Order: sequence, then structure tokens, then C-alpha cells
Amino acid sequence: MATTHHCLPMETSDPPTSDIANAVEQSLDKLGVRDAAGLEGLFARLEQRLRDDVGQVTTGGRGPEDIEQLRVRWLGRKQGLVRSITENWLRSAPAELKADVGKRLNALRGSAEEQIASIARQPTVDKWSQPLSEPVRQRPYSAAAPGAVEAAPVLAGELDITLPGTRRTIGVEHPIRRVIREITEIFLSLGYSVEEGPDIESAYYNFEALNIPEDHPARDDQDTFYVDPQTVLRTHTSPVQIRTMEKMQPPVRIIVPGRAFRHDAPDATHASMFHQVEGLAVDTHITFADLKGTLDYFLKAFFGPEVRTRFRPSFFPFTEPSAEVDISCIFCGGTAGCRICKYSGWIELLGCGMVDPALYSYVHYDPARYSGFAFGMGVERLAMLKYGVQDIQLFFQGDVRFLHQFR
Ligand SMILES: [Zn+2]
Repeated sequence: MATTHHCLPMETSDPPTSDIANAVEQSLDKLGVRDAAGLEGLFARLEQRLRDDVGQVTTGGRGPEDIEQLRVRWLGRKQGLVRSITENWLRSAPAELKADVGKRLNALRGSAEEQIASIARQPTVDKWSQPLSEPVRQRPYSAAAPGAVEAAPVLAGELDITLPGTRRTIGVEHPIRRVIREITEIFLSLGYSVEEGPDIESAYYNFEALNIPEDHPARDDQDTFYVDPQTVLRTHTSPVQIRTMEKMQPPVRIIVPGRAFRHDAPDATHASMFHQVEGLAVDTHITFADLKGTLDYFLKAFFGPEVRTRFRPSFFPFTEPSAEVDISCIFCGGTAGCRICKYSGWIELLGCGMVDPALYSYVHYDPARYSGFAFGMGVERLAMLKYGVQDIQLFFQGDVRFLHQFR
């Protein structure tokens, strides 16, 4: 916007805006300007005229000669408008107006230099590169035209939107996070919810309440990083089963993603810190068939519909009966033809079973009324199979060359 609809004093002696160029050839006295208000009106017209001139050059798409012509018209040493004002207004100005005229003149000169330099810097001319007046606060002595106040503070020539931007490297979701998310989404679609528990766990929740008393041989596999004799870094996510059953009554359908810790020496398939997803469903009338159906559905959803599942009898202290679950080898299609399945056609994947009724006594569930199943899987193992990763250590080394492959 560039109008002067309300800022000019309406004195009849004022020349119209288009004649402002003639006005600079006469003295202030002849123009009838004898006070600050009169000066303000005059300079406002000059600012308006400057904007109009600059606008004509930029929107007209004119060349370097036009810009030079504009410069001479305003800033020329012999006949420029600024020069004429100095000659005809400033020199003969009455003493009480002299300082005011000087200030306004300097502001006008600065404004002209700036705007003309700005369009001279523009390599191409289009409607977006039209110079905009600076905000009034940067021209404290100039007459404020309303257009100047409302113009955007970005000066053309200082922002070149045609230059390529700075590309920022965006990280990728870590493969472990990604697998946990995929597992979680499948179980959420089955009506499960997500529970979490502490990494630093009491021996009671980690062992005793899961039917693993102090002298139980199963502790040998898992004895781990003790903080003190009653506190461990949890060896599995199973303690959250107990914590959840303590605080809610059946029906319970949860999965528990999280970290677990064991004193395994690091090699291609072992790390002292790893991730598990634990699952638990407790309700009336839950049978082993529900367990099989749930895990079969999950594994087909995760690895693909062609995958077959197999349940083998096993032992866990907190489930009875217990089973290991295998899937048909996803590398040789179950034809027993590859090294990864050791030419068996099956890949061992996770453990599961019906919740041992002994656990219900710890959480005050009625074992005659409720039954349920539990399962647990290693996230790293699923990720290694799904993405063909050969070494578990790669997940924890933070090597971006590895991580970027999961874009
Ligand atoms: Zn195979």
C-alpha cells in the first residue's frame, strides 16, 4: 500500500504531489511553509514521490540506465532533487526551521540511496523484488507515510529466495525402535495396551513373584547385575506382568516393550543389554488355543502371511505348560536349504506358555476362575531376522552408515 490519504496537512498553498519537483526550485518562504507541520507535509510528498519513482522502475522491468536515471534525478550532484532542496530550502530557511529541514533532508537522502541501491542489486525484476520501504523506526526523522509502516521489514535484495537452501540431515528411526513400534501396532490392533516398568527392579518382582525362588536353577541363567542383594537390573520384562496384575483385575491384555540386562559376554548374538516385548492375557476361558492363534496371527503380520508356526514343548518357571515357538525359515522358505536355519527349515523365535496358576496367588487372582497366557520375545532377534543383520552389536554402536540403511 502506498497512499497518503491522511497524513498531509490540507493547506491550500501546498502544491499537489505531482508538482513537488517544481516546489524544490522555490524557497520555503515562497511556498508559504513557515512551521514544522508545513515541512512535514512537504517531505511526506517527497517520500511518496520517491516511492512512486522507484516503483515505476522496478515494476516496469527497466534496465540499468533507468536505475541510473533515477539516481541522477534524486541524488545527482548538480540537479538532483536532494541537491535542489539543499540549495533552495535549507540555505534560506529561517533559523528556527533550519535544524528540522536538515534532519528531514538527511533522512530523505538516506532513504533515496537505500532504495535505489536496493533495486540496483536485483539481478532480475519481478513483482516480488519490488523494494519495500523500511519501517519508520529505522528512519526516525523522515515523515512517516502509512505505506512505510505497513511494509514488510524484509528488504528486497537481502533475501534471495532463488538460492538453494541449507540441507539439514534428518535422523532415522533406530531399527530397534522401529521393530518395537511394528510389534506394538500389531498388538494394539488386537486390543492390547502398552505397559511399562522400571529397568532397576526388585529381586522380588524379577524372580520370586515369577516363581523363581532363590535356590531355583533358572536363576543361574539370569543372575545378573545386582545393585544390592535385593535390587537388580531386570533380566526380562516379565516383572511387569506381576506389577500389572497387582494393579488391575482381569481382563488383562498387555504388551510390555523395554530393556533387559544379563551378564552375557558380547558376541554376534549376545549383548549385556537388549530389548524384549512381553505379552500377557488373562481372562475367563483363555486356553492354549488362544495363545497359538494370537502368536500365529502376530508372526504372520510381522514376517508375512506365508510364514508357518510351530510350537515345541519347553520349560519356563512362570508358565505351565510352556512352549518355544518356531517360524518356518524366512530365508529358504522352510525348505531346510540354508545355513541360517541350520538346514532345519525352522527358526527358533520366542517363548510362551499358559500363566502358571501359582503366580495368581501373588496377585490375588482366583485361579479357579481365571486363566491366561504369556509370551516374550527378543526385539534384536526379530530385527536381525527381518532386516538380515548379522551382528547384534551393530544396533548399539551408533554407526550412522548402518543406521541410514533403515530409511
Ligand atoms: Zn532356511
